[in-house]
Order: sequence, then C-alpha cells, then structure tokens
Amino acid sequence: MNQSGQKKFGFGCMRLPLVHADDPKSIDIEQFKSMVDLYLKRGFTYFDTAYPYHGEQSEDAVRQALVERYPRNSFHLADKMPILRVKGPEDYPMFFETQLKRCGVTYFDSYLLHNLGRDRYDNAQRFGAFDFLVRKKEEGRIGRIGFSFHDDAQTLDRILTDHPEVDFVQLQINYLDWDGAVAQSGRCYAIAQQHGKSVTVMEPVKGGTLARLPAEAMDLFIFYYKRTGNQSGDLQDMIPSPASLAIRYAASLDHVTTVLSGMSTLAQLDENTSFMQSFVPLTEGEKNLVKEITDVMNRTIRVPCTACRYCTEVCPKNINIPDYFGLLNLHAVTGQKTNMYYQRFAMNHGKASDCVSCGQCEKACPQHIHIREFLKEFSSLYES
Ligand code: SF4
Ligand code: SF4
Repeated sequence: MNQSGQKKFGFGCMRLPLVHADDPKSIDIEQFKSMVDLYLKRGFTYFDTAYPYHGEQSEDAVRQALVERYPRNSFHLADKMPILRVKGPEDYPMFFETQLKRCGVTYFDSYLLHNLGRDRYDNAQRFGAFDFLVRKKEEGRIGRIGFSFHDDAQTLDRILTDHPEVDFVQLQINYLDWDGAVAQSGRCYAIAQQHGKSVTVMEPVKGGTLARLPAEAMDLFIFYYKRTGNQSGDLQDMIPSPASLAIRYAASLDHVTTVLSGMSTLAQLDENTSFMQSFVPLTEGEKNLVKEITDVMNRTIRVPCTACRYCTEVCPKNINIPDYFGLLNLHAVTGQKTNMYYQRFAMNHGKASDCVSCGQCEKACPQHIHIREFLKEFSSLYES
C-alpha cells in the first residue's frame, strides 16, 4: 500500500487490447471492461491515460469501460496535458476541457504535463503550463499535479527547484535503466527523493523488454527460482514471470506510490494483480538476480526502445519504427532474422528505407535514440 492507502499497482491505458493487431485505434472495449472489472475487484484503483494514447482513443475507452460503469469516487484517474501539441497558452484550456469530456468526468485525481524534458520545459515555462495546473487545482478540477519526465537528472533537479508546487513526478524506472546513461532511473529517483516528491513509475518492464528475457538471462532466472521457490506473493507454486520481477523491483522502492503497467490482455492483468495483491518486496537474493540479468541484457540489447510509439505519431512516412527495432533487438539477442514478422509489421506502414531523414521522430523520442541510424542498420539487414 502507498501512503494514501491505494495499492501500488496502476493500470496504464496505453497498451489496451486490440480488435485488429495493426490498428491501435481498434480497442477491444469488451475485453477492456473485463480487465477493469477484475482490476477493481482485486482492490486496485489507479488508471492512467493520456491524450495521444491509441490514436487519441484511450480516454474515450476509459470513459466507456470505467467512468460510465463505476461511481466516480471508486477509482483514481490520471490524465496528461499533451505539451508537444501546445502552440500557445490558449491551448491548455482547450486540451483540458476536451480531455474531461472524452473521459466523461468533471475532475482528474492526478494531472500531469506529458513527457517533459529540456526542450519542452522551455516552452512549458514560456506558455505558463505550471500556472495553468495550479489554477485548475485551486478550482478543484485537479487533485494532484505532476509531470512525466524523460531526460537527465540535472534537468529534473532544475524543474523541481523551479516548481516546488508539483506534488509528484512520473519517472521511467526499471532495473535495466537504473544505472543507464540515458534514462538515468536511479539518479532521477534520488533527485525526486531529495525534493520530497512521491514517484509514479512508468515503463517498469521497459516496453516488454524485461518480460521477454534473452535465453542466457532466462536461464539465470529459472535456475534461481527452481533453487529458491517463488517469493512473489500469490503465485506460490509456480516459477514467476520475468515481468513480475521487474514490476516488484520498481514497487520495492520506498518513495514509489504507484507502478504503472500497460496490459494488453485479461490474462496479463490477472497475473499482475495476483502478485501485486499481496505485494512482497524483492529479497536480497532477487536483488542479486536482477544485477546478473542486467549484465546479460546490457551485453545483448541493441536499441533501448520502449515501444511508446511517440515517433510513429510524427513520422510523415508512417514507418513502424518500434516494431522494426524489436526485430533488430531480436536479431542481436538470437542472431535470427524473421522475414515473416517484417512483412507483417510493414503491412500498412512505410518500409525502413522509406525514411526521408527529416528527424521528427528523434525530436519526439523520450529515449533519445538515433532512430535514423538504426533504421539504416535495419534496412541493410532486412531489405538488402
Ligand atoms: S526521420 Fe525517417 S523515420 Fe524519422 S520521422 Fe522522418 S521519415 Fe520518419
Ligand atoms: S524509438 Fe523512441 S519514440 Fe519510438 S517507440 Fe521507441 S522509444 Fe518510443
């Protein structure tokens, strides 16, 4: 439990079940409703959505599956201002009112500036983003104010020093990024702690990377649990899933109030809520296991992509960047090329070689990935 009595596990509504796998707008509302039902039944309450998720359909789906079916005071709803799309101060009320309407609510329990970093912070300052949030909080339309953040610890320190009115920060925290030079999970967490801010965690499984461990890391994982037994809560008789280790890792941090997970099936939700219902922090043995797995992963992962898909929203050639990078990583780990997957991923999308090098994707990428270079590498692997 966190300090406000909520269980620490939040439902991220950015990877909802789909009717058509290649159409992010085609949310499977009936399955989403079943997931909402089970999630609430097991005592969890925190839902996190955002304007651009699922081609702008996530907020609407949250209204249908949650808001219209449960009393407003039975859940906690977080939404985010799409600061990348804000062109001037007048856009803030426009987006905010649209979001309230899409979600079918009169207030948000938590509201964040979405994806803040060095560049976007300057615009947010110029357009008075934080003042807008404070005003809405005073009007009772926002419970807590915060921002999601993808940059270095120094920038986080600057923002929190400038804005002590912020209640919480949403950080990318997972064991692979803890000492990483890009996401700087560990250092950012320490800065939040220094400023006395609670932390919501996003990407605890790093876009699925820590749910599908490469063979060498998986061997370590299985060997460990065969030796010690499962320590992750409800699933006493089974070897736990790698995703459970990653989620428990983030939830074990003292200043973390919520760990978000984007879940795409009822089965995933069933599993995650099982072990988070009676949450058990990582043991010393599991902390050592995490270090060993991290060493293996750092040797094998080629592109640190979390599949957030922000790049695909801005690409004029509609290139399926994250799925192509998934194949690059698969090749780096297994040495295998899977043309069948490439054909499927390229269906209704541009090929890697269609890239015109405009650089829009790299400006949008929270992981600061050199997307154009990796697309060239991918193209020579799959298209030559
Ligand atoms: S640089 Fe290439 S991949 Fe990136 S947005 Fe432009 S066309 Fe798309
Ligand atoms: S390349 Fe960057 S923006 Fe695109 S999906 Fe991966 S992490 Fe997200």
